[in-house]
Amino acid sequence: MIDGARYLVRFDDICPGMNWTVWQQIEQILADADVRPMLAVVPSNEDANLDVGPREERFWERVRGWQARGWTIGLHGYQHRYVTREAGLIGINDRSEFAGLPAAEQADKLKRAVEIFRAESVRPEVWIAPAHSFDAATVAALQDLGVDAISDGFFLSAHRDERGMLWVPQQMWSFRYRPFGLWTVCYHHNGWTAADLRRFAADVAAYRARITDFAAVASAPYIRRRSWQDTLVSTLLHSTRTAKRQLRRTLNRVAGKQPA
Ligand SMILES: [Zn+2]
Repeated sequence: MIDGARYLVRFDDICPGMNWTVWQQIEQILADADVRPMLAVVPSNEDANLDVGPREERFWERVRGWQARGWTIGLHGYQHRYVTREAGLIGINDRSEFAGLPAAEQADKLKRAVEIFRAESVRPEVWIAPAHSFDAATVAALQDLGVDAISDGFFLSAHRDERGMLWVPQQMWSFRYRPFGLWTVCYHHNGWTAADLRRFAADVAAYRARITDFAAVASAPYIRRRSWQDTLVSTLLHSTRTAKRQLRRTLNRVAGKQPA
């Protein structure tokens, strides 16, 4: 806390049909700056919204290559298909592939997801829920499958919960200056323009000295058990997000569209 803020970089919706043209450039920026991001990989994508271009036939080879370089591979759901209207523990979006489903059904989906990773020799290092939506049954099933870290939540630092699950916070969608704390910046690159790429490159350069990686966070010698400070900050940040979400939902309703 005293030595300033730290940032993690995360890219969601990594799948064979994503925007590879933009991704090539992002990958170059990350490699040049020696930044090790977290990549949320969809095991078996069935969300047509994520299929924006030609499929990469060597997809899993690419994923193995990233993991071999020390980039963190996250389990991003199973099929990225929203089947409930539940916001789950985090409460950002009212849609989920998991939250609200019976525990056995969730466990079955997660088992299939992890099996795909393992069949492709990819280690699921961290859970990254589609739409940030999952519940206590999801967390329990993940632990049973040996996935013991989560990237989500409005906290100021990483902590372990009473079951030993590591929670690494995720609270930003672009770099912002913060005086202290651990911040994960989450990106979705499919719709990026040249201007978005330029801004990303500039932010990576500006914040480089403050950017860490998941392995460094997870192996920190001392990670707190969740304390009252975290709970307090979580509540404060969360209520801000909830207020924004309600506002956005109202605006979207007026505009006649679903929130992104
Ligand atoms: Zn997603």
